[in-house]
Amino acid sequence: MVGSYVVRQRLTGRKRYPLVLMLEPLFRCNLACAGCGKIDYPDEILNKRIPVADALEAVDECGAPVVSIAGGEPLLHKELPQIVEGIIARRKFVYLCTNALLMMKNLKKYKPSPFFVWSVHLDGDQEMHDKSVCQDGVYERAVEAIKAAKDMGFRVNINCTLFNNSVPERVAAFFDTLKPMGVDGITVSPGYAYERAPDQQHFLNRTKTKELFRDIFRRGNNGRNWSFSQSSLFLDFLAGNQSYHCTPWGNPTRTVFGWQRPCYLLGEGYAKTFRELMEGTDWDAYGTGNYEKCADCMVHSGYEASAVNDAIAHPIKAAITAMRGMRTEGPMVPEIPLHAQRPAQYMFERQVKEQMVRMHSAEPKKQAAGR
Ligand code: SF4
Repeated sequence: MVGSYVVRQRLTGRKRYPLVLMLEPLFRCNLACAGCGKIDYPDEILNKRIPVADALEAVDECGAPVVSIAGGEPLLHKELPQIVEGIIARRKFVYLCTNALLMMKNLKKYKPSPFFVWSVHLDGDQEMHDKSVCQDGVYERAVEAIKAAKDMGFRVNINCTLFNNSVPERVAAFFDTLKPMGVDGITVSPGYAYERAPDQQHFLNRTKTKELFRDIFRRGNNGRNWSFSQSSLFLDFLAGNQSYHCTPWGNPTRTVFGWQRPCYLLGEGYAKTFRELMEGTDWDAYGTGNYEKCADCMVHSGYEASAVNDAIAHPIKAAITAMRGMRTEGPMVPEIPLHAQRPAQYMFERQVKEQMVRMHSAEPKKQAAGR
């Protein structure tokens, strides 16, 4: 279905099109992970939610065949079951990303469907994951929820973020435990160095990322031992064998502030509509080689769409990579030069102020409309 969508977009000559809508219906979370840069907002902003009608309007406006619901912790949104139901009714695939703390309590509010996947955050075995999320007992609760979801007939993936303290042997051993647990697929990505993340010491640079992924894949028959939910070419990119430029419009992001520029990881401005995002963003100002904040990024929300486009253009290469696994020996592709990148701009405080002003000026209007 995603493949035929991409082919249709290409046949119509559309230059930029979305693959996965990243829908963040709230920023509030019930954890405070060291590597997360998403929750550092005042309470007034953390208490905001995207209403059901606005969430479904975003799905319709964007048109992407896949919707990944992220956050914050989406299960804190009381109307999430209606949002999920509305997206499935549109025959779009939903990945509901969760830290699983509320999953057991919420399982009965959802129905198994070929269009619905629980995507549970697990950054490794018990010790690795609990350390990553800065709270003991989270791994155990996540595993319990995964097993309960599988018993109820749901599809369950895990999403795993790796940092520079990841030990390849342990990551590989952790991946080995997932199939027996019933997990259907793995989404893996190197952590992005959010400027607002409390822990700035453990992010990977590009060379270290590629070495780490080669070391992991090598321990799993070049990655073939594990069932990844990502394209083989994206994984080959992580292993240093493909050179891709970022495709930030492939995973457009809708938050409580509006459509986020330019991507899921960077909030450098907001558009009111999807069209305004696509037409009004200076896309060439972003990506590795163009912008300092993008220098080390190899995250799936930027590069999976590049790999999918490559797979559609070169299906034989993609099929051979899927068959043989990722290459873990030999030279890596040359890195994108960074000498021409523009310096980072820091605009977080200004944006928070602007959003607070906007929220406060909207309140009297809402109250007047309600009278
Ligand atoms: S490289 Fe792309 S995905 Fe990564 S931070 Fe830059 S614009 Fe976002």
